[in-house]
Amino acid sequence: MLDFKDYMSQVQQKNLADCSNEEIYVALLNYTKEFSAELPYNDAKKKLYYISAEFLIGKLLSNNLINLGLYETVKEELAAAGKSLAEVEEVELEPSLGNGGLGRLAACFLDSIATLNLNGDGVGLNYHYGLFQQVLKNNEQTTIPNHWIEEQNWLIRSERTYDVPFAHFTLHSTLYDIDVPGYKTGKKNRLRLFDLDTVDGAIIHDGIQFDKTDILKNLTLFLYPDDSNRQGELLRIFQQYFMVSNAAQLILDEAVEKGSNLYDLPDYAVIQINDTHPSLVIPEMIRLLQERGLSFTDAVAVVKRMTAYTNHTILAEALEKWPLDFLEEVVPHLVPIIKQLDEDVKANYKDSSVAIIDENNRVHMAHMDIHYGYSVNGVAALHTEILKDSELNNFYKLYPEKFNNKTNGITFRRWLMHVNPELTNLIDQEIGRDWHHDAELLQGLLNVENRAAVKERLEAIKRDNKEKLAKHLKEKQGVELNTHAIFDTQIKRLHEYKRQQMNALYVVYKYLDIKAGNIPARPVTMFFGGKAAPAYTIAQDIIHMIMTLSEIIKNDPAVAPHLQVVMVENYNVTEASYLIPATDISEQISLASKEASGTGNMKFMLNGALTLGTSDGANVEIHELVGDDNIFIFGQDSQTVIDLYETHGYDSYHYYEKEGIRPLVDFIVSDQMRATGQPERLERLHHELMNKDWFMTLLDLEEYIQVKEATLAAYEDRDSWLDKVLVNIAMAGFFSSDRTIAQYNEQVWHLEPTK
Ligand SMILES: *Cc1c(COP(=O)(O)O)cnc(C)c1O
Repeated sequence: MLDFKDYMSQVQQKNLADCSNEEIYVALLNYTKEFSAELPYNDAKKKLYYISAEFLIGKLLSNNLINLGLYETVKEELAAAGKSLAEVEEVELEPSLGNGGLGRLAACFLDSIATLNLNGDGVGLNYHYGLFQQVLKNNEQTTIPNHWIEEQNWLIRSERTYDVPFAHFTLHSTLYDIDVPGYKTGKKNRLRLFDLDTVDGAIIHDGIQFDKTDILKNLTLFLYPDDSNRQGELLRIFQQYFMVSNAAQLILDEAVEKGSNLYDLPDYAVIQINDTHPSLVIPEMIRLLQERGLSFTDAVAVVKRMTAYTNHTILAEALEKWPLDFLEEVVPHLVPIIKQLDEDVKANYKDSSVAIIDENNRVHMAHMDIHYGYSVNGVAALHTEILKDSELNNFYKLYPEKFNNKTNGITFRRWLMHVNPELTNLIDQEIGRDWHHDAELLQGLLNVENRAAVKERLEAIKRDNKEKLAKHLKEKQGVELNTHAIFDTQIKRLHEYKRQQMNALYVVYKYLDIKAGNIPARPVTMFFGGKAAPAYTIAQDIIHMIMTLSEIIKNDPAVAPHLQVVMVENYNVTEASYLIPATDISEQISLASKEASGTGNMKFMLNGALTLGTSDGANVEIHELVGDDNIFIFGQDSQTVIDLYETHGYDSYHYYEKEGIRPLVDFIVSDQMRATGQPERLERLHHELMNKDWFMTLLDLEEYIQVKEATLAAYEDRDSWLDKVLVNIAMAGFFSSDRTIAQYNEQVWHLEPTK
């Protein structure tokens, strides 16, 4: 294939120098698609189907160029014509197919599966407006549809179509593919996104409202439509069944095309169920196998040998339980199958806590996955232990052999090579490029001969990345950053268990401390970013508190030179790509036991930020890898927290009354806050923290403030701080998703790499 410059002059009949960034983007998109179209698919006999409601893939241009080995050349050709690839990239809209960590994990996994030459596709839905776009206005979150599918895009419409039967009608699906090239493998996989041609954005009104009953027009409009009412819940069942029925039909077709007689289907296909959203694939696959001539018993046996389940959370509200009559209303043909599966479980096990259908006629999706799959995994060592010891202990006792851990990972192609090219170059210079395929080799950085020079480079690179972030946020939100400040960042979905409210209370502490005359050695800038579910009022209130504080501090000339609070609008993969390489302190402060793994923590570590965190999720493994001296850990441990829940031993009012805490919490409803913010929101949040505080913010607040102050002080010893940074980067190799995927493959999937 032509190189890009010649492609432009021959195919597009234009010189690069004469093109706008928009024209270059479209040409590069098509060039990349054509290049990728010529690659063969991984085609080993057995194939993985990674079914997921979300794939938070981020912009694709640069990552595809990197994986196809075109990045350097294209970048140089553009530079020679006076163009910048970074600016061209800005033109691309970020696909809105995911919500947070779980969807981003799925995206990292697709990259690693392709890079390890494994035959594996992602299967999901093509949401036209995906997750809402967050607009910050009057110190509040507002929501609008996230338009991301442009005229020219990465989707490739395929010929495949399936009939999906519902109670009152049958829908005919359309399939779009997005190519997923491996990193310099010369082969590719696909992300398969099912859709419905009749879906129509014209039914959206007032932000993201729409008629929840008009399935033909709304089915794939949004990811996670509001399910706080019955119609919303039914729509989610429509979406889930549409996703898995299409997936199951695709799996059967592809296996039969390759010669399967269906009894041997597990030799051709393995399904990974990413959280419980795709769980209906189990009864649907059984139904389809029966339709094709297998007995119920044989169909169940086949499905059991080819289905594996990943658990992502122990939060009770996130484990899906659908009322049986909802399923009856949407997919009545699955109900007898689910009932039979449940009866078989009840015949074998007396313990009602492991039933699929409970006494209130609710179907526990995770229970179905565990009984009728062969593998159950958690996503970090601590999380898996908690599943085995408490959350799923009754299942662990039945099936100890099914349980395994797969600590999450991130793709270094995106989260280092793409987002931090300067750091990538430094590492390449110091230890060569073999770490691109074997991330553990980053440990070579521990033994570099010119350590002092490397540390100096690390300092300069961080400064450059702060400048890039400053330029970006100035253009995007009009904020001015002081790039000499310490950058402290908490970016993730807004949720009480993640405790953004605890960080906000630290802001109050720091504000009052500066007012009292304690000027910090160096300015601190605290970044927050994250979307809150529209029906989650307290999360909206926390955003409001953060933004109100930000405004008060900005307008206080005695404090503003020393402290800045920035709420980054519409946090997504693109924003993460600017924020993470610029950050010094990574805030990972969830209530111990509640964050299953986290992957943000890994991205920060890899980019030379130090973790300030609790002993939760993968923080525990980061701590083990870098040692006590290179991380800042605080807070009660998971066992203490689990015991507190069990004994109802936490009383937030008791903590509130402490002299170090009460003034901070009361500041939320001070005259100053009420004058700038909305009293109703502030009072509700204040009341919640004082009287309930389900996620125990106040439990760890005092120690958090202490350790955060110590972290800021440690920053001033530049020599020692940069040693810690170096250790963090060097030890991050374990968190490559290539490692995670290799483990899934060895222990769960058993795929042969394509030669
Ligand atoms: C990595 C990532 C997440 C997950 O962050 P956590 O801190 O692990 O919750 C969420 N959203 C985006 C855009 C990400 O890139």
